[in-house]
Amino acid sequence: MALERMAIGVMLGVGDSPEESIQKVLDVGVTNAQMGRPADEWLKPDKAKELKKLIKAKGIKITTVFCGFDGESYADIPTVKKTVGLVPKKTRKERVKKAKEIADFAKILGVKSVAMHIGFVPHDPKDPDYRDVVRTARAFADYLAKNKQNLVFETGQESGECLLRFLEDIKRKNVKVNFDPANMILYGSGDPIEALKLVGKYVTGCHCKDGVPPTKKNQLGTETPLGKGDVGMKRFVQTLFDIKYKGPLTIEREISGPQQKKDIVKARKMLERIRDKILAD
Ligand code: MG
Repeated sequence: MALERMAIGVMLGVGDSPEESIQKVLDVGVTNAQMGRPADEWLKPDKAKELKKLIKAKGIKITTVFCGFDGESYADIPTVKKTVGLVPKKTRKERVKKAKEIADFAKILGVKSVAMHIGFVPHDPKDPDYRDVVRTARAFADYLAKNKQNLVFETGQESGECLLRFLEDIKRKNVKVNFDPANMILYGSGDPIEALKLVGKYVTGCHCKDGVPPTKKNQLGTETPLGKGDVGMKRFVQTLFDIKYKGPLTIEREISGPQQKKDIVKARKMLERIRDKILAD
């Protein structure tokens, strides 16, 4: 099932029940979604096959599966550094193992993009930790290549320049980017639109999310409903168009409850207007 150009989709949170999540996709009026890591029981091949049937029956396309790991916390910047992704050394080995399990689950679903926040990559390329993280990412990319999958990094915790160097240092064709412009604002990592132009050729997915910068050191900024933050959605979607982006426009709204659904529906309508105008011009 091929998607239309810039089809609007939604990101489903890590750990959500897959059955409820599928309903959520339909409730907000879209038919494609990125999926967070489900509970471990769903990673087993039998359950994954069951889920695949369910997804197909509902007419939904899963475009990406995200890795998520136990013990991750996005409370503030020092906590993100300590706990997120494959950067923290203490948990790296077990998380690579889990990431492979998630990749194999995604393969059963027929999903090519396996995404993750790799964590705070050291900014100095001479730092031995930087080289270790590059080697870890490369080995995982090679595992994914055997599955005919891509390793897709979610943006946010580094500047466009640092991300570009990291991607180039991994030296693997199946390494790509899921571009989240709001994260760059939330982490104070620079202008997202300039960064998008810089890494444009790697971008196979995106999050349509918005936010405002942090006001205190070590804190993260605040996510907002789409259009209420500093991203500039028109400029963002226009830039995706200009770089010949082929993927969906995946709405991400990291709150829960009924307000999340309301915000996503509003975001969908806004993105439809922006996209349709760009495609018509
Ligand atoms: Mg995101």
